[in-house]
Amino acid sequence: MSHDSSERPDGDLRNTGMSLRHDRKWDYELDRITEAVAERDAETVGLQFPEGLKRRGPGVADDLRELLPDNVSVMISGQPCYGACDLDTYMMKRTDVFVHFGHSPMKESDRIIYVPLFSNVDVFPIVDQALEDELAPPEEDPDVGLVTTAQHMNKFDEMREYLEERGYTVHVRRGDERLTNEGQVLGCNYASADVDAEQMLYVGGGKFHPLGLAMEHPEKHVVIADPVNNAVSVADTEKFMKQRYATVHKAMDADSWGVIFCTKIGQGRWDQAEEIVENNENAYLITMDEVTPDRLRNFGLDAYVNTGCPRITTDDGPQFHKPMLTPGEYKIAIGEKPLDSLEFDTFHGTW
Ligand code: SF4
Repeated sequence: MSHDSSERPDGDLRNTGMSLRHDRKWDYELDRITEAVAERDAETVGLQFPEGLKRRGPGVADDLRELLPDNVSVMISGQPCYGACDLDTYMMKRTDVFVHFGHSPMKESDRIIYVPLFSNVDVFPIVDQALEDELAPPEEDPDVGLVTTAQHMNKFDEMREYLEERGYTVHVRRGDERLTNEGQVLGCNYASADVDAEQMLYVGGGKFHPLGLAMEHPEKHVVIADPVNNAVSVADTEKFMKQRYATVHKAMDADSWGVIFCTKIGQGRWDQAEEIVENNENAYLITMDEVTPDRLRNFGLDAYVNTGCPRITTDDGPQFHKPMLTPGEYKIAIGEKPLDSLEFDTFHGTW
């Protein structure tokens, strides 16, 4: 798998708007962490960062060491991390204070301090440009849905007011329990976009989230106002959908299947994995945490179904040496469902 961002597809899971090249100042909420250490008389502190911010880890550890008593040891998780679904449970069990940076809680727990890292970037210039370039004016279509990511949640109410002041009726909802906030989207969950509006305004960095949103809601016009890259565009899923159809076609010839059950805390869909294996004698249940092409290569099976993170399937899919399908796509490949039932694989609930 390439680690050069220039070679990555638009929707890559690693490219979710927290890239270091936009050198923003984040608030790591060190006071909250030091208070928790004092309250619990902690001796060990574990820090987990998403991929885009791992390079900040040593610096944050240095700052914490200066603030904490000498007998407290600080460690950094080296496990891959792409979401709040992806907590380092090993570290969590073995540290007195465990801090997860960069994502809002998927499930609250006393054992975890979530530091969401809100962006300080000004979103309004790019929202203005989106209104001018891509959103229908309120006289034509007053209804607009508004969504964003955890990084910009701190500006969500202001964004809503901003649109209302300009004559729009803004539609927002919280979605399901996998989402912490009203208007928040995840790469695998766009329930907050189930609103009564044909046009959606997504405010946030990168195309990863809005492409998922447009795949999940093909009937909607998804306008991207990206304050990180200072760009406005409309989500276009054609390339993704062609890639998915081509992969499903290839998998139709498969005789043997690997069915992946992901052991990451927030990515397990046991029932789906079990159902496939129970009904197909040529399917084998494979458990793993990180789903990568190299880890599957030696199994020598004809095709795979991934019941873990759907974005590994849709975004990294072409990098796998054999077809990798979502559970819904698998049903099409084995003839249980028609080809035109192909839809984006969303993930609901927590653990
Ligand atoms: S399962 Fe959802 S929250 Fe977790 S990494 Fe994938 S897209 Fe993100």
